Amino acid sequence: MTGFTTRSLPDPEDPRPGGAPLSVPIHQTATFAFPDAAELAELISSGKGESYVYSRWQNPTRAALERTVAGLEGAEAAVSFSSGMAAITTTLATLARAGDHVVFSSDLYGGTFATASKLLPRWGVEVSLAASHRTDDLLAAMRDDTTVCYVETIGNPRCSLADLPALADECRRRSVRLVVDNTFASPYLCRPAELGADVVIESSTKYLGGHHDLVGGLACGTAGLMREVREVSIDLGGTPSPFDAWLTMRGIATLAIRLGRICASALRLAEMLESHPSVARVWYPGLPTHPDHDLARRLLPRGASGMMAVELAGGLEAGRRFCETVRVARMAASLGGVHTLVIHPATVTHTQLGRSEREAIGVTDGLLRISVGIEDVEDLLEDFAGALGG
Ligand code: PLP
Repeated sequence: MTGFTTRSLPDPEDPRPGGAPLSVPIHQTATFAFPDAAELAELISSGKGESYVYSRWQNPTRAALERTVAGLEGAEAAVSFSSGMAAITTTLATLARAGDHVVFSSDLYGGTFATASKLLPRWGVEVSLAASHRTDDLLAAMRDDTTVCYVETIGNPRCSLADLPALADECRRRSVRLVVDNTFASPYLCRPAELGADVVIESSTKYLGGHHDLVGGLACGTAGLMREVREVSIDLGGTPSPFDAWLTMRGIATLAIRLGRICASALRLAEMLESHPSVARVWYPGLPTHPDHDLARRLLPRGASGMMAVELAGGLEAGRRFCETVRVARMAASLGGVHTLVIHPATVTHTQLGRSEREAIGVTDGLLRISVGIEDVEDLLEDFAGALGG
């Protein structure tokens, strides 16, 4: 008989007869054992991400997540990551080489803006920030040596929408690869790969995971392009854990139900806020007053997501007070989960910028960012009305 310690090691083999599990097993292993050196050598030389050899390269739980998300996005393949930022930086490191020129929309998540303005130039990649998220401004920023154009389906901070079909056509004509961060929409509301995007990015920390309990990301696209992204990801190493991959799949199972409810609640809240005397302006693409409302009806027919920006008439003090007064909603960074989250960028996330710098990127004194969750909408309406003092 083997010793206690030997026997205390896990033995995943279960000899009992039975059916298949409904949940994907969590293959919580760093590596995979082989009886045959030649087989192991053959698998390693035939492509590191193509088989199960070492979990930074590929793992069965991750692979199940990637199949699920590729299917939801209408893409041939997906690569999963330990964060949305790992998906973004690895994709850009794959697509852009020293000497290339990359065009970014003006309406970017802060981490992406930092990558564009600091990291890419260090790698010898030239970057231009377009004057806005609109197709004509993005095209005006392109040059003969532009290889990549990067936009968000729904952009920060005013929930602007990129005209993805028109932009994808123009990018194809110029042989420019279009990368779309679809985090604010998720594949339930929009599938950029079906509209012509070459790579779709998701921060699965947000709607895909949906419960504020994991950090993760994905890149989706053609099988060939994703093979290249995986090769770079194996070297850069931003791999998700098997447990986080499993949690993401568990979240995805209720994505449609959550987002259906979130979009309906967000529209009611946006309508209430727009008619409130303490509110100067609501930026929600589901409202006819949003500049991209017509585009939203075309690109987001199921709903305009749970993200909105709200400008309070009372400025800095009113914004801070609102976030500290809400009780059902919570003040926190992040978005896209079951809880309604509010944040006041001017006093929390953008304090390093002066007022004019902040305002140049749309972060005015009274601006709130709201991510609507799945709470009873009557509770949220009452909570917001109370925090506005009305
Ligand atoms: N893209 C968008 C639109 C985001 O809002 C975020 C984070 O808030 C990210 C990417 C980065 O994702 P992560 O925090 O998972 O790295």
